[in-house]
Amino acid sequence: MLTFNPDKAHCTGCAACYSACPTHCIRMKADEEGFLYPEASEACIECGLCEKVCPAVTQENAATLEHQKAFAALSRDAGIWRRSASGGAFSEVCRLWADRDTLIVGAAWDGLRVHHIGVTGFENIAPLCKSKYICSAIEDTFIEIHEALKTGRKAIFCGCPCQVAGLKAFLRKDYENLLTIDLICHGAGSPSVFETCMKSLSSFLGGTVTAYQFRAKRKHFEVDYLSRVTTQSRSRYIVQDPYQQLFLSQNALRPSCGKNCKYRDPHRPGDITLADFKGLTTVFPDLTFQKRNWSTIVCNTQKGEQAISGLEERMEMRPCNLSDIVKHNPLFARQTWFSQDRDAFFHDFIAAPEKAIGRWTVPPSTFKPSLKRRLINLLPTSLLRFVSKMYHFVRH
Ligand SMILES: Cc1cc2nc3c(=O)[nH]c(=O)nc-3n(C[C@H](O)[C@H](O)[C@H](O)COP(=O)(O)OP(=O)(O)OC[C@H]3O[C@@H](n4cnc5c(N)ncnc54)[C@H](O)[C@@H]3O)c2cc1C
Ligand code: SF4
Ligand code: SF4
Ligand code: SF4
Repeated sequence: MLTFNPDKAHCTGCAACYSACPTHCIRMKADEEGFLYPEASEACIECGLCEKVCPAVTQENAATLEHQKAFAALSRDAGIWRRSASGGAFSEVCRLWADRDTLIVGAAWDGLRVHHIGVTGFENIAPLCKSKYICSAIEDTFIEIHEALKTGRKAIFCGCPCQVAGLKAFLRKDYENLLTIDLICHGAGSPSVFETCMKSLSSFLGGTVTAYQFRAKRKHFEVDYLSRVTTQSRSRYIVQDPYQQLFLSQNALRPSCGKNCKYRDPHRPGDITLADFKGLTTVFPDLTFQKRNWSTIVCNTQKGEQAISGLEERMEMRPCNLSDIVKHNPLFARQTWFSQDRDAFFHDFIAAPEKAIGRWTVPPSTFKPSLKRRLINLLPTSLLRFVSKMYHFVRH
């Protein structure tokens, strides 16, 4: 047994305990809601290391605030933008900081499940790109990173802030050759709920879903939560699919993603924080009519700041105040509370999964872009910037 009891309201599933256990007697096991929690076997020698590294129990070392600098950023490379959830900051930071031998670790699909994997060099990061709004299994990637760092290789880790905190707690010392990137985090959803939603989507589409993409983009930006769903016979763009409804309403999130999440705080565990740039047109009125969505980049440490030095060659960068991020993307610094619906949903889900999805969601629809969006996407960017400036001038 574990020598401590990480309760479900606090355990983030970061796998620091699993990675640190000297006897490898911990396995990460899914509970009935589908979230992974550590469970130790009888081989446990009660050394207490799992408790020592657990960020839910200890205070992890968060960044000081003295170097925090914020930017809106958009990749100048249309291909990078398209394969990213926001403006492509993750890819561009990796391209700038990594060398050919750098181990880059992030979340990737494994069929319809999500887990962290390591790839070598920027050229191989495509599977890590784009958000997958499901709890990602860390598996052995912390151990892989530790091995790489010890041999002097550079490593980048990108994940939810609780996962970055877990990695740092597991490593228990700073490595100059490690760059950590966290995200402003709404929360991570249940893998089991996602799988059941894919079954219901298969019935809706009349074919088994074989692949799924969050934050899908066609040629230009159209809508924030578009998904691309692939069945054996074709791919379709869907809005408001059942999983996205449950994710956005917070009903399918991990218990630790509620009021106890201690990572919605300006003291971030990562050297860099990435997110969508919310309120873009308010902060930068000349970007009112945009064909692309932008990233937020916040440098939390000196290392983070050095890592993005020169990024303006690859990304359009606009410095902004940290208060703009706090105001328009409040999860950067403010807690969120689940409604009572979360418990009611999981109560139904555990009893009868597919029925619960039907009861708690409305049918999805296939996507048609609005007329305004189609018009914006037809016009050249330079003209859109000019129109934005004129529009802002007339309004104010
Ligand atoms: C679960 C989750 C919740 C989020 N909530 C918000 C939010 O509320 N507000 C907001 O502004 N931004 C949120 N984001 C961040 C946002 O969706 C983008 O990931 C971020 O803007 C980076 O986009 P990008 O274009 O720079 O790069 P992208 O290429 O889109 O970023 C990919 C990176 O995200 C990481 N990632 C993807 N899926 C997961 C996962 N399941 N678990 C851990 N890491 C993952 C990958 O490791 C990869 O490194 C969230 C991301 C995740 C994963
Ligand atoms: S180390 Fe992470 S996975 Fe293990 S108990 Fe603590 S929070 Fe949970
Ligand atoms: S007490 Fe030691 S041996 Fe037992 S589970 Fe924790 S780390 Fe592993
Ligand atoms: S909301 Fe908090 S606990 Fe949940 S995934 Fe994000 S950082 Fe981790």
